[in-house]
Amino acid sequence: MPPKKQDTSAFGKTLIKWYNANKRELPWRNTKDPYLIWLSEIILQQTRVDQGMPYYLAFAKNFPDVKSLAKADENKVLKLWQGLGYYSRARNLHTTAKQVTELHKGKFPADYNELLKLKGVGAYTAAAIASLAFELPHAVVDGNVYRLLSRYFGIKDAIDSTEGKKKFAKLADQLIDEKNPGTYNQAVMEFGAIQCKPVNPDCMVCPLQNSCYAFAEKQIDKLPVKAKKTAVRARHFNYLVIQYKNTVYLNQRTEKDIWKGLYDFPLIETKDKASETEILSSPELKTMVENTKFHVRSVSKFYKHILSHQHLHARFLELQIEKPLKNKSLIKVNLNELENYALPRLVERYINERQLQTIQI
Ligand code: SF4
Repeated sequence: MPPKKQDTSAFGKTLIKWYNANKRELPWRNTKDPYLIWLSEIILQQTRVDQGMPYYLAFAKNFPDVKSLAKADENKVLKLWQGLGYYSRARNLHTTAKQVTELHKGKFPADYNELLKLKGVGAYTAAAIASLAFELPHAVVDGNVYRLLSRYFGIKDAIDSTEGKKKFAKLADQLIDEKNPGTYNQAVMEFGAIQCKPVNPDCMVCPLQNSCYAFAEKQIDKLPVKAKKTAVRARHFNYLVIQYKNTVYLNQRTEKDIWKGLYDFPLIETKDKASETEILSSPELKTMVENTKFHVRSVSKFYKHILSHQHLHARFLELQIEKPLKNKSLIKVNLNELENYALPRLVERYINERQLQTIQI
């Protein structure tokens, strides 16, 4: 049976009614503070609500307002972000806090276009802050909203195409409840997150069911449409865990690459999987440890670490050296201070499993 014609004027009302009865109680929903709303939105772009909650609470506790975040040491910000991935977002978070403090006297601007000028704030985040904190009528369009709108209205334009994005944004702007933009935006996102889920949406108890295109036409698993397949790059990391007594050497990642600003062990990246002998005889290793003899204590298993566009294959070679390194680009760190450094989750995983101990020489 074809669906009843979709009623755009009833859409928002139905969602808000559903939201009031079904919403999850989340700490950032009890505030109009744009700083806390912004913080939650940036974290939730990165992870699911249950995983993001401890990060949100830790940030809100350590940095209760935008000025305290602006003043923070970058390593502390990255450390609190550790495990969320996409560290450029954590650095942008820090930069935005400084911008708000310096350019707007510590107050987020109550204006969509001014919000858009902030570092790392795109259309989605600007609309979220504008509507949730200031009740301005700007519609949010995130993955949940794309899914719901494409299924309910039967829109087959690709959500990652320019044309598709424009079409969804236009429709979202038409649908927003101008009197309750904050509640409407929360409702549409929450509905996509817990009702019209990516897999097995709960159509049988859905208040939009009798006018839903995807339900009537059995197109639920075909919508939304995505045009591009993401290319995944394989990388091979050979980490050198160079230890001298109770110290180990770290490298701060400064290049334009994953994990910029974080610390890891000195690394030799190879095109393919490299043998232990290839790494040990490589010129990079020789330069690193040129002033001292070393011996190999152990070679770890391979760790696979999956990022959105990269698959990392990593191995850790533990080297014991006889004299401290002269290499000034590396940082000598006491084993018991390792936890103070912001480390990629891959490196943290290895350290936790391995439990490095002092070596008596
Ligand atoms: S009927 Fe199913 S597919 Fe349609 S909006 Fe509801 S949950 Fe989503």
